[in-house]
Amino acid sequence: MILYTLACDQGHTFDSWFANSAAYDKQVKRSLVTCPVCNSAKVEKALMAPRLSGTKKGAPAPVPAGPGWPPYARGKSVLECVHVVLDEEWAHHGFCARDLDLLRS
Ligand SMILES: [Zn+2]
Repeated sequence: MILYTLACDQGHTFDSWFANSAAYDKQVKRSLVTCPVCNSAKVEKALMAPRLSGTKKGAPAPVPAGPGWPPYARGKSVLECVHVVLDEEWAHHGFCARDLDLLRS
């Protein structure tokens, strides 16, 4: 299983599990993957964050406006965005720990 962060054409981002990258390609081509917010089937993998080396930590994040970018990133500093990602990783860890407990019980 592989977890992808996806973005729809309206700029919503969400996470979705796939058996592998080929399964992802197949399901997106057949419009089987839809945005949970607006139901759009026009989804693609969210763009990876740009490299931040040499960026001042207080500088505004180099996040272009438009679809494919997480709404929380706009207008925030690079430092703030990094903290958001760290918090998300922590949240995912919590979900996994909870589900592991459920599977074991
Ligand atoms: Zn959407």
